[in-house]
Amino acid sequence: MDQADIVIVGAGHGGAQCAIALRQNGFAGTIMVVGREPEYPYERPPLSKDYFAREKAFERLLIRPPTFWAEKDVNFLLGTEVTAVDPADKQLTLSDGRSLGYGKLVWATGGDPRRLSCAGADLAGVHAVRTRADCDALMAELDGGAKRITVIGGGYIGLEAAAVLSKMALDVTLLEALPRVLARVAGEELSAFYQQEHRRHGVDLRLGVAVDSLEGKDGRVIGVKLADGEVLAADAVIVGIGIVPAVGPLLQAGAGGVNGVDVDAHCRTSLPDIYAIGDCAAFACDYAGRQIMRVESVQNANDMATCVAKAICGDEQPYRAFPWFWSNQFDLKLQTAGINVGFDQAIIRGDPSDRSFSIIYLKQGRILALDCVNRVKDYVQGRKLVEAGAMLEPHLLADVDLPLKELV
Ligand code: FAD
Repeated sequence: MDQADIVIVGAGHGGAQCAIALRQNGFAGTIMVVGREPEYPYERPPLSKDYFAREKAFERLLIRPPTFWAEKDVNFLLGTEVTAVDPADKQLTLSDGRSLGYGKLVWATGGDPRRLSCAGADLAGVHAVRTRADCDALMAELDGGAKRITVIGGGYIGLEAAAVLSKMALDVTLLEALPRVLARVAGEELSAFYQQEHRRHGVDLRLGVAVDSLEGKDGRVIGVKLADGEVLAADAVIVGIGIVPAVGPLLQAGAGGVNGVDVDAHCRTSLPDIYAIGDCAAFACDYAGRQIMRVESVQNANDMATCVAKAICGDEQPYRAFPWFWSNQFDLKLQTAGINVGFDQAIIRGDPSDRSFSIIYLKQGRILALDCVNRVKDYVQGRKLVEAGAMLEPHLLADVDLPLKELV
């Protein structure tokens, strides 16, 4: 096939859901999904959770079995990268030198792990956690006897990986450059809670530390040198410092964007017949005061994908899906609803020392977002308050004897 009605670039969460939703909405034309990884689309979150902990086999991560794609007549070019886009001729250049024409293009490429810029960043034993291959390489290090693991980056992925490793009785150090973990996404109370949990589970958590370089021997990492000169011995290093949106070919083709590719309210880029969805797409988010942002979550990738599929099938609606997210660390299930950008008040509901509590974020009295730790009821009931942008007395929100549903 050298031409398809719809070409989806990226066989991850957004790409898979877009193909599924196209067929669900009656699209009868040809669909081709081009994916750089060799696998059919799989769920990424377990890579730092149950797959990494070896509690789930890879086959259980597949978003759909290969037979599903064949039945739905969704074609795949796997292990293949799109290297250039020609929007005038509607042609893609592929990494194997071939061309592929499209009627409409959906760009769903996510991002590549941000790399350290210091000396030693390329040494063997330095790992990202973004793909199955990354995770398998890391697991092979553990099988090979790596015992001292340094995790660089205290975001969700670094924390989840550290939590799994700490259960394996390894010597785990986590380094965060900022004064607290999760600083980009959570309030201070949640950061403080997770810091305490990690330390309680034996993770050597160091905050406000800068990495100077990685030290190596015979091409392999053996240590992490901090800015103050201290060297931490390490058999393997995990780098979890965010992603760089994989939008090079689109920007080179003339699409607008600084942090990812910009899309309008219908997920359209500035190039004709080219949409972008998921981690790589920057949009004005209704749930963050219309701030232009990228949202890195399964919810956002899936809902943008469905929005685009519907638009292609003639049902064009602006993208306004409600944001939600989760993270699993130790026996703690965090569920987040809304986006807390610009909050000026955080109300704690319950006692963090019980390991079951919620944080409600307000801006000028209006509820913006919710973080719930081991408190599913608050999450389910509180979502409605976030969606409504409800204004309620803080003492009512803090009262654990008052179910949030009674406040809706
Ligand atoms: P992806 O799923 O990353 O898919 C993009 C695909 O495009 C990749 O396979 C990539 O190789 C491919 N690609 C890139 N460039 C090209 C190209 N030029 N040509 C062809 N293919 C290309 N989210 C949550 O909501 N909850 C969680 O608990 C959670 N945990 C996570 C844990 C980990 C370890 C990771 C890595 C992510 C986690 N996320 C979580 C985030 C979530 O997985 C992402 O937001 C989601 O995968 C985004 O989907 P996407 O389709 O935009 O990109």
